[in-house]
Amino acid sequence: MTKNKFADIVINRPIEGPFTYSIPEDLGQYVGVGSCVEVSFGTKKTMGYVVGLSSSCKLKSVKPIVRILDKSSHIDTEILKLAKWMADFYYSSWGEAISATVPSVIKRPLKIRRRKTKEYLEEPDVKYVDGSNTHLSPTREQKEALDSIKKCIDDRMHKVFLLHGVTGSGKTEVYLQSIAHALEKGRSSIILVPEISLTPQTAARFKARFGDEIAVLHSRLLGSKRVFEWERIAEGRAQIVVGARSAVFAPVKNLGLVVVDEEHETSYKQEDVPRYNARDVAVKRAEFSNAIVILGSATPSLESFYQTQINRYTLVELPERIDSKLLPEVDIVDMREELTRRNMSSIFSQSLKTWIEKDVSEDKQVILFLNRRGFSTFISCRKCGYVVTCKRCSVSLTHHFNLKKLICHHCNYKTDPPDVCPQCNSSYMRYWGIGTEKVESELHRLFPKASIARMDTDAMHKRGVHERVLSKFKDGSIDILVGTQMIAKGLDFPKVTLVGVISADTALNLPDFRSGERTFNLLTQVAGRAGRGDLGGRVIIQTYTPGHYSIQAAKNHDYNTFYSKEISFRKELNLPPFCHMVNLTFRGHREENVLKITESLKDRLHKKDKSKKVEILGPAPSPISRKKGMYRWNLILKSDKVEDIVSLLRNVLGSRRRERGVIITVDVDPY
Ligand code: ADP
Ligand code: ZN
Ligand code: ZN
Repeated sequence: MTKNKFADIVINRPIEGPFTYSIPEDLGQYVGVGSCVEVSFGTKKTMGYVVGLSSSCKLKSVKPIVRILDKSSHIDTEILKLAKWMADFYYSSWGEAISATVPSVIKRPLKIRRRKTKEYLEEPDVKYVDGSNTHLSPTREQKEALDSIKKCIDDRMHKVFLLHGVTGSGKTEVYLQSIAHALEKGRSSIILVPEISLTPQTAARFKARFGDEIAVLHSRLLGSKRVFEWERIAEGRAQIVVGARSAVFAPVKNLGLVVVDEEHETSYKQEDVPRYNARDVAVKRAEFSNAIVILGSATPSLESFYQTQINRYTLVELPERIDSKLLPEVDIVDMREELTRRNMSSIFSQSLKTWIEKDVSEDKQVILFLNRRGFSTFISCRKCGYVVTCKRCSVSLTHHFNLKKLICHHCNYKTDPPDVCPQCNSSYMRYWGIGTEKVESELHRLFPKASIARMDTDAMHKRGVHERVLSKFKDGSIDILVGTQMIAKGLDFPKVTLVGVISADTALNLPDFRSGERTFNLLTQVAGRAGRGDLGGRVIIQTYTPGHYSIQAAKNHDYNTFYSKEISFRKELNLPPFCHMVNLTFRGHREENVLKITESLKDRLHKKDKSKKVEILGPAPSPISRKKGMYRWNLILKSDKVEDIVSLLRNVLGSRRRERGVIITVDVDPY
């Protein structure tokens, strides 16, 4: 046997590689494909990943590997292959993609990790778990779904199921029994949930069923606790992994099943390089492992539902709530009429006020939802029209009453509210728009006896606050909970009989072709928080556009009508799922320079695109045209196949991410 003396190594930089390094004698027996090593690159040391070995090398001089990380950082060939696919699809280097699959704490030297032993967080006490350790006897629909899922697991077939069911229709029970079946066959499972719904409640429900077989990976897990869970998975001691986005890379062996709960969630998309969507990576990983995938949602993404229509995915429906519990009644309140009725409160319609009063007095609970933090959303001068905006971003500043500050929601710039107009010195500064903080203060005024809590990223800054508010809500010591989308998901509180949406229009008015889809999803999710118990439920949606199909479909709990309207609109305009899009963003401090580079790249792309398969739109300013002091312009590339676009980009741009001071980012399938 010849000894391998050289290793092909890729690194966590936007440079393709692989690069050849020699393996020092004393490391020989430890270095293999998948090893994490430290190498010197240029003048610096950097982390590298071994992707190949060889016994000879044509280069005259090669540098040696500096050292190797311990074995818990070793990467399976399956994950290396998945990372290669990600690099090709999402336009990153292989090294960057591999790096994304390994938690950063694993890449730290062992000594440093050990020193941080005390760092991990105690799991909060979970006193309010509904979870049983035995399977429930499935309903007819659940059984049908389970039969086809189990058969695929038995046959080691790769298949993607889209499990479409309203909240409370028993999707989680289907996940649990599918996982159990996979486990019986010796196969592991990964369950992805959006970070925001990875509450102790969720984890506890899985733990109640499977006990120590479970490893939970969430972002609150720090240092050694994360290492501990990672090692348990890698050694096969935990065969079921529950986690957010990056858990899709968990080093399980013999993968049989991946569940992606709330598959439509945008939080599955990673915002840094590689900008992957964990849902789509999950499907790929399962394909490589002959595993099955269950994508679950009450409001499937257009992309996923479309796949069932062209017979790539299998649609399974759970059309009813368990025990035939009724979906809540949804009232739409036309806020234009409220204005003519001279209702003086601009926030609450008469009907919403009445229902809040009634339910609170009957000791029931209320959730109010608004997709905007803060107090007032912008401030302008009544005399000259001047709007107070962020100095570094092209957005207006939001007033935060508690902090007595104006804050930029894009860069966190803070300043004092002006007493007089900075432009004309008049003292008529007017505060417009409403945020959650204002809703909360109005509630205190209108319902002085009610106990009210707010849940948004401002209020939830400190660790543990989130759990505390939830458990207080659960035990009934809070009457009204006000919040952003944070409270739209996953919560299951039987005493909530009323859910109010303060303004359905905030999401609709975004300049984004998905705004209709987002609005439908959000309203449906929010509505799902009402009437989980036996008390029934009511949802009140306030809007200025009551006739919009997203709002009407949400009122009628009618996904199919929503889908058929939305899909025909996407088809007409050739938007996803009928094409893939790639968003190129150009940022820099000098606008004319940014624009020049954007235009010149567009020209070069046009010239090189011999096949004419790629449509190039732009340049156009980004929705936030200036952010953190940088001007931002976009090009949008469209084609049937991502490969067409990516290969054109590689041809023109190579691995460069910067041109004459302008930073270029590439986002495949952007949100
Ligand atoms: P989803 O995940 O779709 O929101 P769940 O699986 O959480 O739905 O089910 C909703 C409720 O119904 C839960 O309390 C669950 O325990 C219960 N449930 C689910 N399936 C069954 C069943 N087959 N028999 C009885 N109760 C069930
Ligand atoms: Zn003014
Ligand atoms: Zn800003």
